[in-house]
Amino acid sequence: MSTETLTQKSKTNWFRKTDVPVVISGPCSVETEEQVLETCKRLKATGKVDILRGGIWKPRTRPGTFEGIGIKGLPWMKRVKEETGLPITVEVAKAAHVDACLAFGVDILWIGARTTVNPFAVQEIADAVRGVDIPILVKNPINPDLALWMGGMERFRAVGVEKLGAIHRGFSHIGEKFYRNRPEWQIAIEFMRQNPDTPLIGDPSHICGRRDILKDVSQKAIDLGFDGLMVESHIDPDNAWSDAKQQITPEVLGDMITSLKARQTKENDEGAQGSLDYLRQEINTIDDDILNLFASRMGIARKIGEYKKANNMTILQQKRWNEIIEKVQAKGVEKGLSKEFISKYIKAVHDESINQQEEIMKG
Ligand code: PEP
Ligand code: MN
Repeated sequence: MSTETLTQKSKTNWFRKTDVPVVISGPCSVETEEQVLETCKRLKATGKVDILRGGIWKPRTRPGTFEGIGIKGLPWMKRVKEETGLPITVEVAKAAHVDACLAFGVDILWIGARTTVNPFAVQEIADAVRGVDIPILVKNPINPDLALWMGGMERFRAVGVEKLGAIHRGFSHIGEKFYRNRPEWQIAIEFMRQNPDTPLIGDPSHICGRRDILKDVSQKAIDLGFDGLMVESHIDPDNAWSDAKQQITPEVLGDMITSLKARQTKENDEGAQGSLDYLRQEINTIDDDILNLFASRMGIARKIGEYKKANNMTILQQKRWNEIIEKVQAKGVEKGLSKEFISKYIKAVHDESINQQEEIMKG
């Protein structure tokens, strides 16, 4: 990673010792001894990876998909650690997983998104690590609920876990699937505000669910001042037993990390949250979100275009259009936006929808 100076939050913590974010990588699932060993050796060879991950127990959304190799994969992870000299991290979802990981020298445990949603499960794991000096990383829950994420963190703090961190892996949503899990960056930003000393790691793999936007999402996390990245890697991504679409080979991962720009942090008297660069980053984030929303809106407009074409309807439905203008203007004024701006905005959006629908009608 090359470095660039950016006035932002300045911090090092138990996880990140320098301005360069920490990189965690490894396969979504541990499949065979050869697969995990080769993946991890090649990751080590890139010189860009600090910690190796491997999923041993996989809490899958649907039964009948690969649910993890289970405990027999732990000796393989131990071998990975011995042969690469790098620390290893494994997901745990219950107390028995914690005991097994501790027996095989796992260095860091992480809590998956499907576990963070369940306070009983989190508490069971917290009780199992009481009095054990092992770092824990808590993924955000599947649903966009900051309080539930905070609650998970608090359960580990309460049992005395000192090396605690969090992983932002995006949030489940209905509708458009540009992201597999929508980043909802403002939730991550609020998490940082409420937990200024807790390391936060970005998980672009589970946010993206695809390879082509991994780099942009990784850079965004770094720009926002995240302490590290967790990116899935596999020697044969297309044939991975889980999350095949989002994994990349160790060499592609190495190149991607090299191409990212780390931000050098600088003390700022106003406090990080008030700095101009930080606020600009927030604006960039919101602008990206707006663009994505426009793209989704136009996608739906095109579907409506198909319906109108099939039913021989005109594009412009005057009654519907009047309703939209009135509703949006009233809402905008309520939010402190000028009537003039709203009217220009909604007309521009409407024009674009009509153009997109015309394309469909012509086609
Ligand atoms: C994983 O890291 O492979 C995983 C299952 O992620 P998540 O808990 O974020 O879905
Ligand atoms: Mn995965």
